[in-house]
Amino acid sequence: LYVAERLTQGAMLRLDGGAAHYLVQVMRTRPGDPVKLFDDQTGEWLGIAREVQKRGLTLEITDHLRPRESVPDFWLVMAPIKKGRIDWMVEKACELGVARVVPVLTRRTVVDKLKHDRLAAQAVEAAEQCDRTALPQIADPVKLSALLKDWPEERTLFFADETGGAPAAKAMGERPGPAAVLIGPEGGFDADERAAIRAVPQAVGISLGPRILRADTAAAAATSLWMAAAGD
Ligand code: SAM
Repeated sequence: LYVAERLTQGAMLRLDGGAAHYLVQVMRTRPGDPVKLFDDQTGEWLGIAREVQKRGLTLEITDHLRPRESVPDFWLVMAPIKKGRIDWMVEKACELGVARVVPVLTRRTVVDKLKHDRLAAQAVEAAEQCDRTALPQIADPVKLSALLKDWPEERTLFFADETGGAPAAKAMGERPGPAAVLIGPEGGFDADERAAIRAVPQAVGISLGPRILRADTAAAAATSLWMAAAGD
């Protein structure tokens, strides 16, 4: 279970709201029961339920179980797509180990009102589900032009291009180090955007095969290929 506070040995942690509801009403936690918690800073801890009420409980933090995992230095930069699909995209990114999700606004982006909190909640749920001890950061949405202008010098930008590019697995294997994959919206990037992306010195056009994938599929496929190439 993720908690926002920094955990320390011997601390008494009070939980209310959604976390308490889950532990008390869903998991039927009782005094003396163990609960695993992580804080995205120090890693995973064992807590023992001490006081349990209907809407809240207090846990004593007893043992440090695991340090925070090291997170592969990989960003998913993607144009937002509609609700259910972007949620899926964030969930899979988190399961696969992405460090940072960056929503990018393009000419053909149809969803420009992104609910940051909902995406962050999605990432927490996915991290809990797959036993992670770190959360991906969900960045604020940024315009494509601003993102490209300030692109970090040391980070390769793999541009997933359905019109063709280097085979993704090979290109990724040849370029170790910090990286990101850029996935376009359902309508794709327009000609000016493509030219601007290609003009970034760190950009490498990659193909995910001869078929046009949905943006969410392309994001999961490219992320898996990078993780496999990096051995992460
Ligand atoms: N422009 C296209 C169209 O409307 O026919 C489709 C865009 S596709 C649904 C959404 C995004 O997924 C693309 O911008 C690209 O980043 C990525 N993508 C889809 N298929 C791909 C492929 N075979 N290789 C590389 N990237 C792909």
